Amino acid sequence: MFFIRFRPVLRSHSHPPPFLSLLLHSSSYTSSAAAVQAERTVREGSRNDWTRDEIKSVYDSPILDLLFHGAQVHRHAHNFREVQQCTLLSIKTGGCSEDCSYCPQSSRYDTGLKAQRLMNKDAVLEAAKKAKEAGSTRFCMGAAWRDTIGRKTNFNNILEYVKEIREMGMEVCCTLGMLEKEQAVELKKAGLTAYNHNLDTSREYYPNIITTRSYDERLKTLEFVRDAGINVCSELHIWLPFGTHSMGRVKYFDLRGIIGLGEAEEDRVGLLHTLATLPAHPESVPINALVAVKGTPLEEQKPVEIWEMVRMIATARIVMPKAMVRLSAGRVRFSMPEQALCFLAGANSIFTGEKLLTTPNNDFDADQLMFKLLGLTPKAPSFHEDETSEAEDCKEAVSS
Ligand code: SF4
Repeated sequence: MFFIRFRPVLRSHSHPPPFLSLLLHSSSYTSSAAAVQAERTVREGSRNDWTRDEIKSVYDSPILDLLFHGAQVHRHAHNFREVQQCTLLSIKTGGCSEDCSYCPQSSRYDTGLKAQRLMNKDAVLEAAKKAKEAGSTRFCMGAAWRDTIGRKTNFNNILEYVKEIREMGMEVCCTLGMLEKEQAVELKKAGLTAYNHNLDTSREYYPNIITTRSYDERLKTLEFVRDAGINVCSELHIWLPFGTHSMGRVKYFDLRGIIGLGEAEEDRVGLLHTLATLPAHPESVPINALVAVKGTPLEEQKPVEIWEMVRMIATARIVMPKAMVRLSAGRVRFSMPEQALCFLAGANSIFTGEKLLTTPNNDFDADQLMFKLLGLTPKAPSFHEDETSEAEDCKEAVSS
């Protein structure tokens, strides 16, 4: 049956246990691409040579089959009961010059949101302390900026916040827009665990959502950072399909996707393909369902259905087995049984706390109850990441 505890870590070129082979090859499961590719993932580990057609065929598999095989890969690659709890705080809200169509923080839209200055240290640390007491192990700080260039005072303050929150024993993540190379190095020195960098949607659909910056413009910035001479053996590398881009010494990064922006299923597959073909998969893949905010150009978008989330999560799990797949914005709309389906499909991280930047999030007590009822356990913070295997994965991918 299904509830088998497999080894928690994927190993390259290993074979599935005989009973798993039996499951995978039984007549009920051989027909779907989800079954075939899940078996390959279990056997071979992470791959970076996915074709778009392969991912599309996994994505298009019958939903229950996809859910089953997402769960199977999840149980092979992770402790399936562990769920990471992250708290996301908007430390500088609103007044952003960009025009991201989904975002109430853009100064171009009349959403009633008041722009605020950078939060002071006491308020940020107090929020981090509360998050820790509530069980969060990662604290993420978001600032509504295009970039951090020329924001020296604010940036130095953020370095202090990072340092102090790390000293509280939490993982620390930032999303501050585009960085200069020295800033990435300084963030790492301060103790930053992860940097969030957003793709949002497929390259093709991107111009429908954001016009004030493009994939290529961002690439140029990243190339500038690399060309400025950061050692590419240092710990942060953002690899994009067009080359290797070093951003300093922060090892991990999140690459976020949002569904429900009006994109086609092909665009969702395109986003997953972009992420899954990076030489090193993102440490985290937050999957967001649009929370349509009045006053933004996407205010009339239809809510995302639970089956669309399950499809995205299970496909992400099969094609990026080691990534933390985060059930992010929009979770507040899903019931506990619906969230259970997401965890079963392969999600293993959530955002907790009252708000997700500016939109509502799930109630703390309801989350505690959910953990208890579903038998989930909070994932402990990790400060000793498996650098060797990640580096080996990268080397293999780069040389192939
Ligand atoms: S998503 Fe970020 S960059 Fe885009 S408008 Fe909102 S705050 Fe600005």
